Amino acid sequence: LATQLVQSEKMSSLGQLVAGVAHEINNPVTFIYGNLIHAEQYIEDLVELIKLYQQHSSYTVPEIQEKSEAIDTDFLLTDLPKLLNSIKIGAERIREIVLSLRNFSRLDESEMKAVNIHDGINSTLMILEHRLKATSERPAIKLIKEYGKLPLVECYPGQLNQVFMNILANAIDALEEAFTNNEKMTHLQILIKTEVTDAQQVIIRIADNGMGVPEKLQKLLFDPFFTTKPVGKGTGLGLSISYKIITEKHQGKLRCISSPGQGTEFAIAIPLHQP
Ligand code: ADP
Ligand code: MG
Repeated sequence: LATQLVQSEKMSSLGQLVAGVAHEINNPVTFIYGNLIHAEQYIEDLVELIKLYQQHSSYTVPEIQEKSEAIDTDFLLTDLPKLLNSIKIGAERIREIVLSLRNFSRLDESEMKAVNIHDGINSTLMILEHRLKATSERPAIKLIKEYGKLPLVECYPGQLNQVFMNILANAIDALEEAFTNNEKMTHLQILIKTEVTDAQQVIIRIADNGMGVPEKLQKLLFDPFFTTKPVGKGTGLGLSISYKIITEKHQGKLRCISSPGQGTEFAIAIPLHQP
């Protein structure tokens, strides 16, 4: 049962990942497609005109005159380059998404590596971005980044990203629940703050202004299978897996600081260099 549930937590993060990437890629693809169809029409008209000219070798043929007059040269000079540029921007966005995805998973790396932690947080955020947007149920979630200047950190990047994903997904769930319980709440936010300490540690704080954790439950959060979410939504394993990754794999610390009704902060501390 335990391994089945670990699997189920993995599948639910995988589900988030797939949904996030599909959503993020769908936007630029739709955008590129629309621009391409538009550009294609103009290019077809132009090609047809060139063909006619090659057949007749003369501009005085009425059909050619008619067709060349029908071509909107203002468009060709101003809008077509814009259309092509939009297509390029859309393609660049997709390239960024694919890079983020590669950076997020980093499954190929079973060895420790010195990496930029902000890259990991940012690629995780890209995958969760669709969950921050406003829905018919609730307003958008505002994301505030207060990134300090960090040196590279020796870690297992794929595993750390898993931790960021767990904590951020929990924060979004907590904000959604807080809003469901109090529709007057107008401001939903997640703050991500990073800093390096004198003790050669990086601290990553992820704080939400959601419903918080009742004091009695705060000790239980990291226990395997502890969940307050309905069956099918929570496995109760996200935080216990995160705890293992931070403490056992990175000799770090993971703490929860919460004021019920006001919000919750998870603070991750990781030594810059592994002993
Ligand atoms: P799951 O998300 O599957 O329930 P987790 O181990 O990720 O399992 O979290 C365990 C529990 O901790 C959640 O069910 C929730 O009650 C509580 N929790 C985690 N993060 C937050 C948060 N940001 N705000 C409020 N409660 C939280
Ligand atoms: Mg969770």
